[in-house]
Amino acid sequence: MDHANLTKGIPEKKHQAWEKLLGAVETCRKCPLCQGRTRVVFGDGAMNTRLVFVGEAPGAEEDEQGIPFVGKAGQLLTRIFEAAGIDRKDIYITNVVKCRPPGNRVPSIEEMLACEDFLRSQIALINPSVIVCLGATPTKWILKTNESISRIRGKWFDWKGIKVMPMFHPSFLLRNQSKKKGSPRELTWIDIQEVRDRWLESR
Ligand code: SF4
Repeated sequence: MDHANLTKGIPEKKHQAWEKLLGAVETCRKCPLCQGRTRVVFGDGAMNTRLVFVGEAPGAEEDEQGIPFVGKAGQLLTRIFEAAGIDRKDIYITNVVKCRPPGNRVPSIEEMLACEDFLRSQIALINPSVIVCLGATPTKWILKTNESISRIRGKWFDWKGIKVMPMFHPSFLLRNQSKKKGSPRELTWIDIQEVRDRWLESR
């Protein structure tokens, strides 16, 4: 991946910090997930963005390609972005953990703790105004809540001065195809438009 292009327009010092962080993640062996990975999945998109999406963990295709959200769920997410007028190149996408958990299980607390500094550093360097948590895992991890995703999706939270909205994970939408009023797909369509509008206001 051409990370130099993704950091275009970024001050040299920040660019260097980003490259250093990338190097640390790519060689990281801080938790057992390093043992089963093919590639580390650092993130994808623009560093000079105000909008960041955070998912749970890489899946099989992400692990193969080293890019987040490229499998079936990622393709659906990209289509949702396109329908809302959001170009993936203009935003940043990453996960709570950067290596694939075996069998796509939910990462353990220990694994998320081991990886936490990387996500924090990414967010600190990007300095977004809006973060979207995709699904229960990043929502619980970032907002420290036990509320179910279906209760708090679409709501805005303040986290360290950043507006945070939980949304359904696209893999959940793949399992729920209905587009009827009140369905997860219809609600996600409402949510993504609100996220887009908040992001455009902050640019
Ligand atoms: S998941 Fe995170 S902490 Fe664990 S090995 Fe991968 S990069 Fe390191």
